[in-house]
Amino acid sequence: MLYRSFKDKKLSLLSMGTMRLPTIDGKINEDETAEMIDYALKNGVNYFDTAWGYHSGESERVVGKILNKYPRDSYYIATKFPGYDLNNMGKVEEIFEEQLRKTGMEYFDFYLIHNVCELNIDEYLNPVHGTYEYLLKQKENGRIKHLGFSVHGTTETMNRFLSKYGKSMEFCQIQLNWIDYEFQKANEKIEILSSLNIPVWVMEPLRGGKLAKETGEMKAFSEKHPDFSPVKWSYRFLKSIEGVTTVLSGASSFEQMKDNIKLFSVDDPLTDSEKNDLLGFARNMTGGVPCTACRYCVNDCPMGIDIPVIIEMYNEYTFTGGGFLAPMRLKSIPEEHRPSACISCGKCKELCPQSIDIPKIMEDFTQKIK
Ligand code: SF4
Ligand code: SF4
Repeated sequence: MLYRSFKDKKLSLLSMGTMRLPTIDGKINEDETAEMIDYALKNGVNYFDTAWGYHSGESERVVGKILNKYPRDSYYIATKFPGYDLNNMGKVEEIFEEQLRKTGMEYFDFYLIHNVCELNIDEYLNPVHGTYEYLLKQKENGRIKHLGFSVHGTTETMNRFLSKYGKSMEFCQIQLNWIDYEFQKANEKIEILSSLNIPVWVMEPLRGGKLAKETGEMKAFSEKHPDFSPVKWSYRFLKSIEGVTTVLSGASSFEQMKDNIKLFSVDDPLTDSEKNDLLGFARNMTGGVPCTACRYCVNDCPMGIDIPVIIEMYNEYTFTGGGFLAPMRLKSIPEEHRPSACISCGKCKELCPQSIDIPKIMEDFTQKIK
C-alpha cells in the first residue's frame, strides 16, 4: 500500500468509502462488509470514510460496529456533518452526539463539514447555527482530531467558505478525476488549496464508476497507449497530482476492493506526456457547447440570465446524463434567472463570437431538467 504523510499520521493513499457498500435485500450486507474491512486493514488501508446520510444512516452504525473490533490505533474513521440538508442546520450538537453513539467511537479522527455548495453556503456561514463553533470546540476537547470539509460547489463557493473558515480547515475533499480536472475545474480548486497548504482528499475518482467502463471512445485512446486500462489510468492520474493525500474509493464488492488495493500498491504516476494525452482525451470526450466564458452576452440579457454559468451546467448535465451536480446548482439560482426564464429574444446570440445558439440551449435545458 502506498502512503502519504499528513501531520503526524501516515494515511493510506487508498481509503475505503462506505457510501455504496454491498447490500442484501436492500440492507447493508454486514458479513461481506466485515470481510472487506478486515481485508482492507490487513492490506494496509487505514482510512474509512462514512457519513450521516450513507445507506440512510446505517453506514455509520455498521462501519463503527465492525471497526470497534480492532485496536483503536489501527484505523482512522471519518464522518461528516450533514449540512447538505438545511433541516439539519442548528442541530450540530444533537447530530454529532448521535454519530458518536451510533459508531461507538469516543472520537473521530477526521470530521468534515459535508458538501459545501451553492444551496447551503449561506447557512454554513451563518453563525446563528453555531456549526463551526461547536465543531471547533469538539476539536479542542479531543473528540475531533482533524477538521475539514468536502465541496461540490463551484470555486467561488469554495472561496467564500475558505475566506471565513479556511484557517481552521486541515483538509478538503473534492471531486477529482481526469475528466473533472478541467471539466469541473478541480485543477483550480487544487491550486487554491495548495496556496493555503490544505491537502486534497479525492472523492469520485472514477466518476461514480463511469470511468471504469471501457467505452468505444476509450478504445481509440488505447491504440496510442496499449497499456491503457480505464481504472488503472484513473488511479495513475491521481497519483501524479501534487497534494492528493488519500483517494476514497467506494468498493461495492470484495473483488473491486482487491483490485483497488493492488493498484494502490504500485507507485506508477502518469508521466507528463501521458497526463497531457489523457487530459486532451478528456477535453474531446466532454466537448459540449464551446462557450469560452468571455461573458460578452451577459449584460444584454433582459432576464439577467448568467449565460456562461448556465452553459457550464448544461455541459455537465448532458455529459453526465443527468446526475446531481447540475440540478443542485440550478436550484440555487432564483427562478427568474433560470433557463426557463429565457424569452428567446436572441440578443445574446448576436453577441456570441462562438456563434452559439443560446436560446436553443436554454430551451433544451428547460425541457431536459423538467
Ligand atoms: S435569448 Fe434568452 S438568454 Fe439570450 S438574451 Fe434573450 S432572454 Fe437572455
Ligand atoms: S458570448 Fe458566447 S462564448 Fe461568450 S460567454 Fe456568452 S455564450 Fe459563452
